[in-house]
Amino acid sequence: MHELSIAQSIIEIVGQYVTRAEQEQVRRVNVRIGAMAGVVPDSLEFCFAAVIHHTPLQDAVLVMETVPFCVRCHACGQTTESEPGIALCPACGSADTDIVSGTELQVVSIDVDEASGGGA
Ligand SMILES: [Zn+2]
Repeated sequence: MHELSIAQSIIEIVGQYVTRAEQEQVRRVNVRIGAMAGVVPDSLEFCFAAVIHHTPLQDAVLVMETVPFCVRCHACGQTTESEPGIALCPACGSADTDIVSGTELQVVSIDVDEASGGGA
């Protein structure tokens, strides 16, 4: 259960940015997941829901943005989306490439509903 430990790290990151009192107001946790990160989105969503159950974060929804695997080629200069794990340039076949995206797994933003809590 790779996704379970990822879900737990996401919760830890949220805890670093949102005080415990504010966690009840967290509505969305936006994460970016690269095609190469090896995460099954459905599985991560399931694990996230399980981890936040009976915590102040239980109303939060995990919003996942998937990022394609892209390589930048030193031979022809193009940046191209490639098959995950294949670092050869799709345009010219050169292996002289850098991976520019697709390996990330990061919390992008946390949406907190400051209006709720009722009774102004
Ligand atoms: Zn190339």
